Amino acid sequence: MRPSLLDPLFVPITSLAGVGPKIAELIEKIVPADISARKARACDLIFVLPHSVIDRRNRPEIALAPNGAIVTLEVTIDRHQPPPRGNRSVPYRVYAFDETGEIALTFFHANAGWLEKSMPVGAEVVVSGRMEWFNGRPSMVHPDHIALAGDADGLPLVEPVYPLTAGLSGKVLRRAIGQALERIPALPEWLDTDVARRQSFPGFADALRRLHSPADPLDVSPDSAAWRRLAYDEFLAGQISLALVRATVRRAHGRPLVGDGRKITAIRNALPYSLTCSQTDALAEIDADLQRPERMLRLLQGDVGSGKTVVALLAMARAVEAGGQAALMAPTEILARQHFATIAPLAAKAGLRTAVLTGREKGRERADTLAGLESGEIDLVVGTHALFQETVRFRDLALAVIDEQHRFGVHQRLAITAKGEAPDMLVMTATPIPRTLVLTAFGDMDVSRLTEKPAGRQPIRTITLPLERLDELIGRMRDAVADGQKIYWICPLVEESEEVKLMAAEDRFASLKPVFGNALGLVHGRMKGADKDEAMRAFKEGETRILIATTVIEVGVDVPDATIIVIEHAERFGLAQLHQLRGRVGRGSKASTCVLLYQDPLGETAKRRLSVMRETEDGFRISEEDLKLRGEGELLGTRQSGTQGFQVARIEMHADLLETARDDARLLLARDPDLQTKRGEAIRLLLYLFGRDEAVRLLRAG
Ligand code: ADP
Ligand code: MG
Repeated sequence: MRPSLLDPLFVPITSLAGVGPKIAELIEKIVPADISARKARACDLIFVLPHSVIDRRNRPEIALAPNGAIVTLEVTIDRHQPPPRGNRSVPYRVYAFDETGEIALTFFHANAGWLEKSMPVGAEVVVSGRMEWFNGRPSMVHPDHIALAGDADGLPLVEPVYPLTAGLSGKVLRRAIGQALERIPALPEWLDTDVARRQSFPGFADALRRLHSPADPLDVSPDSAAWRRLAYDEFLAGQISLALVRATVRRAHGRPLVGDGRKITAIRNALPYSLTCSQTDALAEIDADLQRPERMLRLLQGDVGSGKTVVALLAMARAVEAGGQAALMAPTEILARQHFATIAPLAAKAGLRTAVLTGREKGRERADTLAGLESGEIDLVVGTHALFQETVRFRDLALAVIDEQHRFGVHQRLAITAKGEAPDMLVMTATPIPRTLVLTAFGDMDVSRLTEKPAGRQPIRTITLPLERLDELIGRMRDAVADGQKIYWICPLVEESEEVKLMAAEDRFASLKPVFGNALGLVHGRMKGADKDEAMRAFKEGETRILIATTVIEVGVDVPDATIIVIEHAERFGLAQLHQLRGRVGRGSKASTCVLLYQDPLGETAKRRLSVMRETEDGFRISEEDLKLRGEGELLGTRQSGTQGFQVARIEMHADLLETARDDARLLLARDPDLQTKRGEAIRLLLYLFGRDEAVRLLRAG
């Protein structure tokens, strides 16, 4: 149970003054925590950090206030000049003065009552906003702040600027955050004294206050001691929870999985290629793990197209040889089916009995699969989240393989683990995450890497093309189709909604249809499963030659003879995603091309991203560049969360803290594995604050 000390922070944000259901919905858009499954709470709000400040410390006299500058003026109200009756297009003006001159405070569509009340004639007021000089006359249109001189404490001279979303005003958000901050109870320090001293960290609540009420623009920099303190807290919470998960997983003893090698040999003989050295090495590492009595917890990292699927298949074959069952889980239905299509025929060669299980299998078919898994008639199952469901029972799950891990959370990892008696785990990711990120996302997993591509792969030519030259591109596509090639066309990434995404894809489909007719296919997230399959099948078998797709195609989809990928509005995609998408081609022996179609003018970061894509195909280099480029202001005004599931930490800025946090976590748990000491108790608070409480539940269970 959550310590009651934290209760004031764990209230829904709607219990804050000025936050109704509508505002709450808007605030939820900018809350950095992943709260998709629940309502935002006050403790989510405290981690919405400002990305910059408005400096209002410039307090000149009227005559000396420069045009365009943000200033704070102390003035006396002279007179009000409402617009003539019936003419709302003329603004309401309030004239005010100081020793040096007069200024017009200008309001359009004003609420006269409110203006009279907040600026009575003769009153001394403080106003802050942007100066405008026109024909030698100063004015300030809609001052950001107005306060009576005696009352000006509330006027922030260094005003934090938060990420905003349409419809949510900075004032409303600031007020809500302010209330959340007031709810922070007196908390014991959970940091190690030495670490805190060495890093000059302020206390937790102190750090938050400094960031939300900055005294200086430097205070809100991610480099500041306050921000770093919170980043460290978050890393520490993450490392501790990963370590606890790992300890639980390890505590349950595994068993040695040893086989006679016959099934593996049968599969290897059926492969139309020989394994790369990396694949062979990875398999040897996996095999060694499987043979040990401890459980395997291994990450298989390999760039797109490096051939992870076959490694997974051979590992699963080993588990079956040893008398157990194996499951492969994919993040999407398309992927699950594609894996199944690859794996089933090869597995059949070794006499393995396979099945597929997604949300779509229904009725008889589903019942048969469930029965087969429970009785052990099925050796190997490929599926989606559906495999986590309670109705799914295995006779003896010995190995669980999870593809594209970052889409699954820790609890889902645990859920599948619970389906067997301490099954071994192999986690596969195509994101060539830099070392620092492996640590944050996976903790201390063992890592195998596929560092080479299968032989015979041709480099992918990457070109950038402005959208104005679309006609030229379509001409070239026509030639390519006549030449028998296959083309992916990826539709622009749109934040707004699934609806808009759909529109983008359907519009493009409609505009290309007259040119390409029946050679054109379409697949998107809103399609029914069967229709998606059909679209993929038609493309794979060459009935369609051009596949318009939303980013459902992003991970793992494999059509080896597709040779061209066009990415529309490439400037809207992140580097990692562009790299993933590009990896859809260049999988066969033919030369491939990636066309990055962009809309001018390009921002600096977008320009840099596209040129990185032209320069290199090396996933590791790309991910390092990605880290460098991220967080560079381009997100301003939109959701500005930290990196990869972090609320406040920014890997690119705070990576140096990560290893310290890991060591700290290790030492702590070595001394106090159940978090029973005084510091342990404090650490529990930390875990709750950063939403890592599932780890606390493990403590109980274990
Ligand atoms: P990823 O690592 O992206 O999941 P896949 O497992 O989908 O890659 O493999 C990409 C393609 O490479 C598939 O078409 C697969 O059949 C092929 N492949 C895998 N291993 C080899 C190999 N050693 N030699 C040649 N082709 C291979
Ligand atoms: Mg894959």
